[in-house]
Amino acid sequence: MIGDSIDTVQEKIRSRKARVYTASEFKEMVRRNDAETRCADVITCGTFGVMSGTMAILSIPVAEAGEFRRADSVTLNGVPATVGPCPNESLGIVDCVIYGTSFRDRSYGGGHLFRDMVSGRTIDIEVVSEGRVYRVGRKLSEIPFARMVLTRGCFRNYTCFVNASPEGRRTIFSGPPGLGGSLSEASVSGCGEINPVQNDPELTYLRPGASAVLNGAPAMVLGCGTRSSEERPNLSIEADMHQMRPEFMGGFRTSEGPECLTSVASAIPVTSERGLKEVSVLDGDIRLPLADVKDRRPLFSDSYASVWNGTDRRVSIDPGKCLRCDMCQADDLCPRDAKPSLLARGDLCMDCGLCASTCVGGVFSARLGSVVFGGRTVPVGVRQSSRAIAEDLCAELKERVAGGDWNLGGANGRI
Ligand code: SF4
Ligand code: SF4
Repeated sequence: MIGDSIDTVQEKIRSRKARVYTASEFKEMVRRNDAETRCADVITCGTFGVMSGTMAILSIPVAEAGEFRRADSVTLNGVPATVGPCPNESLGIVDCVIYGTSFRDRSYGGGHLFRDMVSGRTIDIEVVSEGRVYRVGRKLSEIPFARMVLTRGCFRNYTCFVNASPEGRRTIFSGPPGLGGSLSEASVSGCGEINPVQNDPELTYLRPGASAVLNGAPAMVLGCGTRSSEERPNLSIEADMHQMRPEFMGGFRTSEGPECLTSVASAIPVTSERGLKEVSVLDGDIRLPLADVKDRRPLFSDSYASVWNGTDRRVSIDPGKCLRCDMCQADDLCPRDAKPSLLARGDLCMDCGLCASTCVGGVFSARLGSVVFGGRTVPVGVRQSSRAIAEDLCAELKERVAGGDWNLGGANGRI
């Protein structure tokens, strides 16, 4: 509440007296000019989407001590990692760093691997040392150190991309078919008014040491991420992978190879008039830069209201329209391999909306909105972020904070 210190808000949380709202609940109060907004203590915010700057640092027991001297290379389910920095000479342990954007092939990359690890699947580890190959299967529970670091993510606002050239274009800002040409579609990212950084744009609370949630695990803000600027701040965050949840992370196929899906949530305390103003931001206030994917230079701008107001969070399914095609194009082109041909929303679906245009029978539909690029209305074709999943994150965090089980600073579990 305005005038409180962070310590006072923390005390309210501990005694379960804090007034906690999810960002979506709070924004509805702002829209109806509810005077109760002035009494809010904490707003839980979240975002889920493609975040390329995700990596894992692992220390993997591979063989008995003395079996090999140093690892020259290592792959996990075929995804290449970088060995080191510690050589662990003759210990049989391999330290490595693996990027969310590294990949085995066009359909499997670091994001898929991280989700498989967190799901408890056995991962095939292959180490080459001095010409000999060592293979072992390891579950995450058998890898004692597994830390995820988001080097940059949670951008305040992402750029929306279109393709003005006549031909389709391969880009990471698309699903598997690429981005349609002649301004036929737009690709959007970002969860708008519920994104944590959008609600604390000057990073007043989201400083080094602030608490967060990364892929469902207790996390800590390390500071600004790479390419962070005053106008477009972003965050670097770390968390222990053992506590992560598969539903809040994964892989996303683009026409330029696999990308990594990551989620972030944080509970933003409201302690000042300025803080209240910042958490009152609405989609319509948030600038959405628009650029041609060819050079990524922002030329125009719209707002996140075009993406998230009056549009559908979820994709609807009309099973009766399915033509039972020999080869289901919706399956083939689903960025998450969520098997839309099963005609029921699968666990992997993130409501990107692509199947609404790739299914030949019109089984799937969703109002995805449109942006205005230089006077031309361009329909959104694919969303690389899910507001529905981000809202789930906000709701879970609200429950935890309202239940008194949340520290605003430092760890909320093993980090
Ligand atoms: S493309 Fe559409 S109509 Fe054809 S099998 Fe797939 S879901 Fe059914
Ligand atoms: S909306 Fe359709 S294309 Fe997108 S993830 Fe879900 S099933 Fe796949």
